[in-house]
Amino acid sequence: MRTLTFKRGIHPPDSKSYTDWSPIKILMPDKGLLMTIPLSQHIGAPCESLVKKGDRVLLGQKIADSSAAFSAPIHSSVSGTVTDIKPMLTPSGTMCNSIIIENDGLFEEHPSLGKDTSYASFSREKILEKIKEAGIVGLGGAGFPTHIKQNPPKEKKIDTIILNAAECEPYLTTDHRVLIEKTDRVIKGLEILLTLHPNAKGIIAVETNKPDAIAALTKSSEGNSKIEVVSVLTKYPQGSEKQMIDAVTGRQVPSGGLPADVGCIVDNVDTVLAIERAVAKDRPLMRRIVTLSGDAVKCPGNYQVRLGMSFKDFIEATGGFKEEPAKVIAGGPMMGVAVYSLDIPIIKTSSAILCFTEKAAVLPPENNCIRCGKCVEHCPMGLMPLELNSDIMADDMESFEKHHGLDCIECGSCSYICPAKRHLAQSIRTAKRNVMAMKKKK
Ligand code: SF4
Ligand code: SF4
Repeated sequence: MRTLTFKRGIHPPDSKSYTDWSPIKILMPDKGLLMTIPLSQHIGAPCESLVKKGDRVLLGQKIADSSAAFSAPIHSSVSGTVTDIKPMLTPSGTMCNSIIIENDGLFEEHPSLGKDTSYASFSREKILEKIKEAGIVGLGGAGFPTHIKQNPPKEKKIDTIILNAAECEPYLTTDHRVLIEKTDRVIKGLEILLTLHPNAKGIIAVETNKPDAIAALTKSSEGNSKIEVVSVLTKYPQGSEKQMIDAVTGRQVPSGGLPADVGCIVDNVDTVLAIERAVAKDRPLMRRIVTLSGDAVKCPGNYQVRLGMSFKDFIEATGGFKEEPAKVIAGGPMMGVAVYSLDIPIIKTSSAILCFTEKAAVLPPENNCIRCGKCVEHCPMGLMPLELNSDIMADDMESFEKHHGLDCIECGSCSYICPAKRHLAQSIRTAKRNVMAMKKKK
């Protein structure tokens, strides 16, 4: 089997042994729990509520949608009563109008669920419509509406569908568990996607630190000449779209371009599982699998959680904290966001919740750059993070753009490797947001 990789990158400790042994546990919210469903859980136009305060809603009922093409509908993850619709804090730190539902504990399903499962006879249009109506977005963290990703402009000739099973972020193990526990369903999801792109081959790329997943996928896809399983080197950020495409196909996504520009579509493991569920089982996106890890939690593991459950309720239901956390991160330690409240909901893009004690969370102080060049040597995008940081310090956004700051994928490799502990990625991320906002205003 081929082992592939990309140029540069880093090798942080993967810290996966805290949870990679942990089978996915199903965690249902208790009766009476308030579920908070933000109206924007994706890139694109926010949804409008289809329900009002006092309404009874059923499990899987569509409760929010948008007429904009670039959006994805939202469904109720429980049955119960809408108690309010108001702005609430989200994991990204922003406020978002949200539907609050009191769970009645009955999980009474909407009658439309599970009715239309003869997917083998579905047309391309119908599969895309199913994916759209199920509210599926990139569950790896990007939140890109999947029906749009799977339907690129006709001139983009797609020849490769990559199932991104690298899971390169330290601590995260949901993909690993899905790959070994739900192997056949993942393969089925990829086969469904391949029917949308008849000239494409499916490549499942798994990091070398998951040999059991590689073995299970190879066995399950045996005899399917359209699917190949490849191993990719355990290296960060192997799972980043551009680095994955480079490793698997040798193609370079152009600056500002998309994978479809080089004939590729890259899909996350949990997303493909959601596609299988939507198309073959006729069920919308109402839950996701979350890694709970870090030295502050009592029961680290992988949990299947209903969307809208708060971080606080979720952590309590798993057994709570063994020590008060000093830092909680939504997502992985490299690209995740530190959160300041646990009264925020698990949403479609919540891949992990990491809780660290003071001892584990302490960050060394930032020092002056010693011009060692390590950040340049390891940047997977071939950028010069120290120069970008200088541009930012000088408030010279013209130079920041000239140094290709907008191509930064915010992977955090430069901050990790910097011996002076400069806040490189953090400053570049903020500068990118400011430049984009200025461009929008013009
Ligand atoms: S790694 Fe840090 S210290 Fe070294 S050149 Fe880059 S910014 Fe400077
Ligand atoms: S500059 Fe951006 S892409 Fe390069 S290592 Fe830093 S965060 Fe990653």
